[in-house]
Amino acid sequence: MSYDEVSVPENGERITYDEDDDVLHVPENPIVPIIHGDGIGRDVAPAAQAVLEAAAEATGRNIEWMRVLAGEAARDEYGENLPDDTVSAIRDHRVAIKGPLTTPVGAGFRSLNVALRKKLDLYANVRPTYYLEGVPSPVSNPEAMDMVNFRENTEDVYAGIEWEAGTDEVEQVRDFVEDEMGFDETIHDGDVGIGVKPITEYGTKRLVRRAIEYAIENDRDSVTLVHKGNIMKFTEGAFRDWGYEVAAEEFPEETIDEDTLWEEYDGEAPDDVVVVKDRIADNMLQQLLTRTSNYDVLAMPNLNGDYLSDAAGAQIGGLGIAPGANFGDGRVLAEPVHGSAPKHAGKDKANPTAMILSGKLMLEYIGWDDAADLVHDAVEAQISEHRVTYDLERQVEGGVKLATSEFAEEVVDRIHDLA
Ligand code: NAD
Repeated sequence: MSYDEVSVPENGERITYDEDDDVLHVPENPIVPIIHGDGIGRDVAPAAQAVLEAAAEATGRNIEWMRVLAGEAARDEYGENLPDDTVSAIRDHRVAIKGPLTTPVGAGFRSLNVALRKKLDLYANVRPTYYLEGVPSPVSNPEAMDMVNFRENTEDVYAGIEWEAGTDEVEQVRDFVEDEMGFDETIHDGDVGIGVKPITEYGTKRLVRRAIEYAIENDRDSVTLVHKGNIMKFTEGAFRDWGYEVAAEEFPEETIDEDTLWEEYDGEAPDDVVVVKDRIADNMLQQLLTRTSNYDVLAMPNLNGDYLSDAAGAQIGGLGIAPGANFGDGRVLAEPVHGSAPKHAGKDKANPTAMILSGKLMLEYIGWDDAADLVHDAVEAQISEHRVTYDLERQVEGGVKLATSEFAEEVVDRIHDLA
């Protein structure tokens, strides 16, 4: 039995994508697949659904949810973690949201999330990082943070091309590197593990292109390419060079590079122009703290993006509130940054904010900005009154501890009041 026969809602319509013009066509009652996920996914996903539904209805629309399975729920129903039905439902409907999935222990699994991103070619992991009033933060000026991180999702040292110490394969690679490629004094004797770091022109350019398009569409001031090209010249250095190339060749009117900004404009960017600059990753990690407001959209290879977006997230309140989404061409899968936190699972206590705000990102992607703003304002009002889940309540003075479901109900009420 295929997914059409079991789970497609009767009243919804499909979102479609016009590839030539890179435009999504979104009906007023789109079918949106949702994976509740494992662990606390069971708590936060229904909470987010209720909030997103309320925002859609308050702006005269309807979301027709289509529940699809992955992880533990899929194992029970289908006997596998990531059924083809789930992947094709998301592929066909273009816009979807998921809760966290536990990475199964055992051979053959890197991660279900990685598998999903790969199968759907979701090449950009996007994490907006902005301050919500009332959220406890470890820094003194959290409101200076308003960044959107674009992390390349398909290559770099995360491509999975690596060989284990002690195997024939790794010794073949060592021989090749030493004998054929001339690196005979580089690898120490004895056991070694070896990985390969591919950074392609194709992978880099489509990521940076998306980051620049996002900056243009959302009136952002700059896109910063974050790399370690000073050391890894032919991989991270190439990322930087290809990044600048996309800007100059494909967006000559809409972007200028930082050198031109100083040489021709004395550091004052003209209106409606996105400045493209680059920073070495270690320096960027410092500047996140010391010059937070100088940065806007960041575009990064996979590993830098992993470190940097977590560090940025910590400055504005951490995992319980950090939203994310994975973008492909005409496709998005929204998901919170956090995992399935098994020890809190099923207790109606986890913070649903990250999943709710991931949904807000999805609403923006389909052009429902009014609904997205309602979600944002309602969540911010809720948190600023310190009526929050346990993770935030213990960090703020005079906080009121709410269950996941209570938090969501109050946010829904606020949406009704604001609309
Ligand atoms: P985690 O994010 O699940 O939990 C770390 C800690 O952060 C938790 O113990 C909890 O204290 C806190 N936390 C996280 N989310 C919270 C929320 N919404 N509300 C309140 N507190 C929250 O990370 P982990 O323990 O390293 O991973 C658990 C499982 O999740 C692993 O199997 C991992 O592979 C998986 N994972 C999945 C995703 C994903 O689906 N995208 C992402 C990360 C980890």
